[in-house]
Amino acid sequence: RAKGLGKARYAVFDTSMHAQAVALLQMETYLRRAVERQEFQLHYQPIVNLKTRELVGFEALIRLWHAERGFISPAEFIPVAEETGLIIQIGTWVLREACRQMYEWQQKFTAARNLKMSVNISPKQFRQLDLVTQVEQNLRETGLNARDLKLEITESTLVENADLVASMLKEMQALGIGLSIDDFGTGYSSLSYLHRFAIDTLKIDKSFIKDFNTDGEKSKIVNTVIVLAENLGIDVIAEGVETAEQAYLLQELKCQFGQGFLFSRPLDAQATEALIAAKLECMWV
Ligand code: C2E
Ligand code: MG
Ligand code: MG
Ligand code: MG
Repeated sequence: RAKGLGKARYAVFDTSMHAQAVALLQMETYLRRAVERQEFQLHYQPIVNLKTRELVGFEALIRLWHAERGFISPAEFIPVAEETGLIIQIGTWVLREACRQMYEWQQKFTAARNLKMSVNISPKQFRQLDLVTQVEQNLRETGLNARDLKLEITESTLVENADLVASMLKEMQALGIGLSIDDFGTGYSSLSYLHRFAIDTLKIDKSFIKDFNTDGEKSKIVNTVIVLAENLGIDVIAEGVETAEQAYLLQELKCQFGQGFLFSRPLDAQATEALIAAKLECMWV
């Protein structure tokens, strides 16, 4: 009897594993085609100064439209791209397009000249030994100034191959590029690397911002991160700000910057340009 059950369970496990493998393969095939046909798009989410309410820049976020499935979230396809190595080609395109677009806006609108563009870089992209050269060449070819580019990396990037990554980040910093730690607090946090890796911005993960105004524990964590960053001379961006109360409390805690649906959802290039053209102050209550 026990044996039979075990067998049945094994069969179920096997089927779902098989289904998963098929889904992964389908996604890989789809991504490969999307790379060839250049079907990706970038959307841009405003980052604002909480005190002055000025727009300070954007985070570039990749988008993929599937003919049958509609919009596919990067949370779903970026892990597949990382697994299959396709992230190298995708990441190269993202960096190029984000820099090209920012430079174009800076040429078109004087008010955009102080804006910065943040680009997400996967841990796998740091396995390319010529990543720094690529970034440098990319800046040269698109015309964007290094000081207007920020790279968002996660704690896992710093943990994997720490010595090599440290020297690559030092070179990036020497070029004038900004470095942000994304999703801060969710990974393998060691405070020593803030100093070691020449980080200039911490992005507090949205899971800490969610309900932090009513959750005493979360608000203590958020406050601690802000104070720590201030003492180290590092900027702080709160991610996932959705309510005016959160924005108000963050400002009370002296958090300088915010990003979230309260200010704006990620916008396509056309809507982003309209925002730049219209007004650099983001209005919220
Ligand atoms: P991330 O870098 O932490 O990006 C922020 C995510 O939070 C975005 O999700 C954004 O749409 C979402 N978000 C912004 N404001 C709010 C808010 O107020 N509430 C909530 N609930 N969410 C908010 P998105 O665009 O789905 O991207 C998910 C993740 O996919 C990104 O997280 C990043 O890790 C990855 N990703 C996106 N684009 C790229 C890319 O070009 N390259 C790489 N390597 N990864 C990317
Ligand atoms: Mg990010
Ligand atoms: Mg994040
Ligand atoms: Mg994230």
